[in-house]
Parts: sequence; C-alpha cells; structure tokens
Amino acid sequence: MTLQIPFENTYAALPERLFSRQKPTPVRSPKLIAYNAALGAELGFKETQDETELAQVFSGSVLPDGADPIAQLYAGHQFGNWNPQLGDGRAVLLGESNGYDIQLKGSGPTPFSRRGDGRAWMGPVLREYVMSEAMHALGVPTTRALAAVATGEEVFRERPLPGAVLTRVASSHIRVGTFQVLAARQDLDGLRALFEFACARHYPHVSDPAEFLQSVSKRQAELVAHWMSFGFIHGVMNTDNCTISGETIDYGPCAFMDEFHPGKVFSSIDRNGRYAYGNQPDISVWNMAQLATALLPLEDNSDSAVAQFTDVVHNMPDLIRTAWRNRFSAKLGIATPAQTDEQLISRLLSIVTDKRSDFTNTFRSLTEDTWQITELANSTEWPAWLEDWQTHLEAQPEDPKEIMSKANPIRIPRNHNVEAMIKEAVDGDYGPFFALNTALSKPFERSSEFQRYTLPPQPEETVTQTFCGT
Ligand code: AMP
Ligand code: MG
Repeated sequence: MTLQIPFENTYAALPERLFSRQKPTPVRSPKLIAYNAALGAELGFKETQDETELAQVFSGSVLPDGADPIAQLYAGHQFGNWNPQLGDGRAVLLGESNGYDIQLKGSGPTPFSRRGDGRAWMGPVLREYVMSEAMHALGVPTTRALAAVATGEEVFRERPLPGAVLTRVASSHIRVGTFQVLAARQDLDGLRALFEFACARHYPHVSDPAEFLQSVSKRQAELVAHWMSFGFIHGVMNTDNCTISGETIDYGPCAFMDEFHPGKVFSSIDRNGRYAYGNQPDISVWNMAQLATALLPLEDNSDSAVAQFTDVVHNMPDLIRTAWRNRFSAKLGIATPAQTDEQLISRLLSIVTDKRSDFTNTFRSLTEDTWQITELANSTEWPAWLEDWQTHLEAQPEDPKEIMSKANPIRIPRNHNVEAMIKEAVDGDYGPFFALNTALSKPFERSSEFQRYTLPPQPEETVTQTFCGT
C-alpha cells in the first residue's frame, strides 16, 4: 500500500463500553468520485496518486495500516424526545491523524444500526461533500469531506439508488449525546474518562465541568450566529448532532435560504418547525442545558454545581445575541458593533422578509452598491433605513466595503444547484459536482465563470423540502 496514514487511536484506548470494535464492510466495486488531496496533506498523509487504492481505502474495502476501526456509542434528544441509544449506525471511525478523526460514513452495519442498513446513497454523500466544504470555505467551523467513493452497489430507499461512502474528518465526533448516554447509564467512570479526554482534546486549559460547559457554550453560540449570518438552517439540531468541539456536523436536511424568512424550515421531518431558521438560538441553548444535565454527576456538590451551570446556560442567549450582532454588523460594514445597531439590523431583516428578497444577494447588493436595482428600493421603509445606515457608516473611519466584502458571500450552495448536481451524478456525470465545489471554494470572490451559481432559483427550480435521505 502506498497510502500511509500516521494513525493514532486515542478514542479506541478509552473504556471499551464507549464504542464497539467494528470493521467497515467491503463493497463490490469501489470507484473514486472525489479525493480532497489538500485536506489529505493537512492530515499528514503521504501523497498517493493511486485512485484504485484510494477507492479501496475510502470505501472501507481495504483497511489502511494502523487503523483500529470502531463505531462510537452515543444517545440523544431527537426533536426533543429522549432516545437512550443511538451510536454510529452507519459510520466507522478508522482512527485519528494529526489530531483529526477520519470516519467512513455509509460503510455498513454496526451494533448500533437498529433497523438501518448501514449504508448511504450517493445523493446525501455528495450533498454533505459540497455543503461541508462550502461551509469551510465560508469560514464556519465544520466537519470536512476527504473522499467520496461510489460502491457499485445499490441501496434501497423508496427505490434502488447508487450507493456511496463519504469520508468525514472532524476535530472529534464527541457529541452532547456522548455525554448523555454515560450520564443516563450512571456510568460515572466512563463519564469522567470521556470528560478528561474531551478536555485534553478540545479545551486543554480546562479541568472543571462548569468551565467546560462555559467553553462549549461559547463555541456553540459563535457557531449558531455564524450559521445565521449566511442564512444556514441546520435542520436536525438534535443533541446527538451537536458537537463538543463547536463544529457543524451532520449535513442531512440542512439548507441555505434563498428567499429570507425567519420561520423557514426545509426538513421534511421537522413538521413543527422546531429547527426553523429563527429558532436555532433557542435550540442551541436547550442543547447546552442537556449538556449541563449530563455533566452534573461529575460534581461532588450538586447544589452549587446546579447554580453554576444554570448561570452558564442562562448567560448563553446573551452570548448568542452578541455574536449575532457582531456578524450582522459586519454584514452592514459596521466596524465597532454596539447594542444600538441591533435595531438597524432588525429593521433591514424586516424589509427583506416583507419583500421576500434573496438573503445572500441582498447583502451583496449592499456591498456592491447595486441595491438600487433590487426590490428593496420599492419598500416604503427603505429610504429611512438607507439614510440611517449611511449616516452611521459616514461617522466611522473604517472602510465599510472592506468589512462587508468579507462577511457577505457571493456564492452559497443553493438548494436547486445541489439537487441538480445530484441528479446529474446519479446519471453518471460528476462534472456539475466538481464545478459546484470549485465555485464554492472561493465564495467571496467575484467570477464571471460561476455567475450562474449566484442566481436564485426560477419558480420551477425552487426546492421547498430537504430530506435526511440516509
Ligand atoms: P442522523 O439522522 O444522521 O443524525 O442519524 C440518527 C441515527 O440513525 C444515528 O445513530 C445514525 O447512525 C442512524 N442511522 C441513520 N441512517 C442509518 C442507516 N442507513 N443505517 C443504520 N443507521 C442509520
Ligand atoms: Mg447524526
């Protein structure tokens, strides 16, 4: 084998009840769709050009030297309902390289598969590849995509579909739900081992559960505000899809909004809008409250711990609000965000909602002074807002355009482009997949070549629903 991965297997050295040793299941005829060589280099891989070998390794058909594959145990609240056991039902962690987890997704059944087949079809694999790499290019903390391999096998959903495996990279796959499962089982030794591991890996300066909760809350607060600044709706903010590292994870039914509405929901299974765009801050706080509950057994004095943890959770809405204000102020070119700017931001969002404007293109039109040709200019509230905004900017020495051009992307992964790409890939043409990836790799740079990706969907192209599509 020419591919050499400098594996470490630190999670596999934790108590055995935190995971199950599990080899990926080989596939019939693995073919490489994509390999992210730049990411491979960051992970410390020795370069390999052998596509056959890459396809074998990243489909789970050949185990690379040094891997110690495991399926991780976790639990979680799904749509607010407690599920005492989830776990990697279709994923296997090969090990860590340069401090990052390398996980195959869609690599066959595990003891945690429940009724699932452990597989993934090509649609969600390519979707996650594009979405997670686009998020990374936008600067949002996220899991990454290292490879996508077609398995040559069919996966049965409503109909037979081509199977694929995604290789996902994360600074870890520890979730709120990983803590929850151990707390629920009253496994104090396991909980303590996980806590120490998570501190060492993500928060090396932290040794106290309250400080840990505070650190995770800060990262989650930054994350949710970052998502919102790009019109991103995660879609399944269950506690098993909420990382301790503060990275975005689990690109199932997520979507970037075209037309702005705070109540927007895409996920077909989110019938009550629990994870609607505008609910994301509240859910993020709710998830941190679940983490607090799971950390409580680590404290000897539970009364004082409850008081401390409650303070942290109660403080989180303020953290989110400040992070949100900072992100949206930058979108308006404001160099020193103040609480009074919140009104200016909210007034604009209200105009954008009324006019059903495209979120991304609206902020870009403000950046490039092309708002005159948008529907905003027809709003009765517009002239007053514009005057207040311009007066505000004139009073600051910093160049607002410079700030705005870094906060307002030109291209985002629009649903209709993603869906069209999947359709072509299933028909055997990966061209649109590569084009979309390239277009989204520099989202803040204008390019005439990629002009089509800046266009909102035509009515007949509009995607109204997204699916977990596992
Ligand atoms: P998700 O909706 O991706 O967060 O997954 C929720 C749970 O369902 C996790 O425990 C997954 O591992 C499991 N799961 C999802 N799809 C499958 C599948 N095709 N086979 C087995 N388990 C699955
Ligand atoms: Mg999940």
